[in-house]
Amino acid sequence: MYVKSFGCQMNVYDSQRMADTLAPEGYLEAATAEDADLIILNTCHIREKAAEKVYSELGRVRRLKEAAAADGRNVLIAVAGCVAQAQGDEIIRRAPAVDLVVGSQNYHRLPDLIARVRRDGKAVDTEFPLDDKFDHLAIPSLASTRARGVTAFVTVQEGCDKFCTFCVVPYTRGAETSRPVDKILTEVERLAEAGVREITLIGQNVNAYHGEGPDGRPWSLARLLGLIAQLRGIERLRYTTSHPLDMADDLIAAHRDLPQLMPQLHLPVQSGSDRILAAMNRRHTRADYVKVVARLRQARADLALTSDFIVGFPGETEEDFAATLSLVGEIGYSGAFSFKYSPRPGTPGADMDDQVDEAAKSDRLHRLQAAIDRSQAAFNHSCLGRTFSVLFERPGRHGGQLVGRSPYRQPVQIEAPPALIGEIAPVTITEVASNSLFGALALAQEPALAGAGA
Ligand code: SAM
Ligand code: SF4
Repeated sequence: MYVKSFGCQMNVYDSQRMADTLAPEGYLEAATAEDADLIILNTCHIREKAAEKVYSELGRVRRLKEAAAADGRNVLIAVAGCVAQAQGDEIIRRAPAVDLVVGSQNYHRLPDLIARVRRDGKAVDTEFPLDDKFDHLAIPSLASTRARGVTAFVTVQEGCDKFCTFCVVPYTRGAETSRPVDKILTEVERLAEAGVREITLIGQNVNAYHGEGPDGRPWSLARLLGLIAQLRGIERLRYTTSHPLDMADDLIAAHRDLPQLMPQLHLPVQSGSDRILAAMNRRHTRADYVKVVARLRQARADLALTSDFIVGFPGETEEDFAATLSLVGEIGYSGAFSFKYSPRPGTPGADMDDQVDEAAKSDRLHRLQAAIDRSQAAFNHSCLGRTFSVLFERPGRHGGQLVGRSPYRQPVQIEAPPALIGEIAPVTITEVASNSLFGALALAQEPALAGAGA
């Protein structure tokens, strides 16, 4: 079996859970699609380009399927994830080599669906199920968890009720749901047992988390993080992606109070213009966002912020775009993703007047990326000479080199023995090149920069 992931971290997580669910059926993970009897494309529908990528990839796997058939091997092709959810059997019409289409909430049924395909031919399952897929997913073996490394994602929340006017997520992932605390805890304990040191709690709108706690009441994300922080072996915590509106007081306080919570936060703002924020239905203003950032930095002075931006949303003028550029300067991001607005079928934005032309979108994206690059370079350079803890994740490209991550999530490369993988050690940053930091092992870490309230 070969599972190829497109898109966000949630798809990476889902792909792993698909592999876990098929492992007890005898499916082993193949290193390449060429070696597999089952190819699953776990797709992303967030922008048109992402969705179209799937069809070009399907062309490639169709040829693999044909070549295998000539050798007498039957290769099954499955399309999973958000394109599957949005397009259903249309995918099989457009790409007849596809055997199975399975939506983002139904992949726990993969063993049954594959058996059905082998028996009856093609199958499509994109209905939102009444049962919770998480109750049916197989637990990964300790060996496969170990093979995935010392950092792991754990989905705690799915779906979204925010309905930003550009976004397909509420349609492809459905209404917002949170997993119960005890289920998450069991999963994290097992990861810790397998040697995972850093957990990133993920959800499309993760800080809206309100899962049932052991006391039968809804727990906030801050409370969940506090509980996980007590688990032996879990040294670092992160969470993503957050909505500025759901940055609750207790979550801001967690950045001050939980040493395991890393000082980096992805807090997408999308635009710096109030007019565009309103048209996007983001439900906050630029000033609200700036205020949340100030409160976060009061709690944790060295908090590094990253964001997502969309340029060329319908009606965006040069003046609106200038407001976005000025916000980048005002916040001082350690990095950010930026995208050209892509009209998505079925979302309100796609039907709005005043669509911005492609040339203006490209020009603005180019200028925004230059501003983000400057901000990121300034942040990286401010790390020169500093000593901070690095979690070593994997061997580097050159022999003797290891790659790890700083508390601010920057990749850090050092010369060190492989035995350090999975360890956290102080590193002094000696060089900054492009977006990577280079450093050397240090004897001790500098004292953490505490927030005003710490
Ligand atoms: N839930 C997150 C939030 O509220 O910001 C992000 C969800 S989405 C998976 C990741 C990013 O894709 C968004 O933050 C947005 O910048 C971008 N995005 C979503 N829809 C888009 C569209 N139609 N065109 C361009 N970019 C889009
Ligand atoms: Fe999409 Fe995020 Fe807005 Fe939800 S909050 S609709 S996931 S951009």
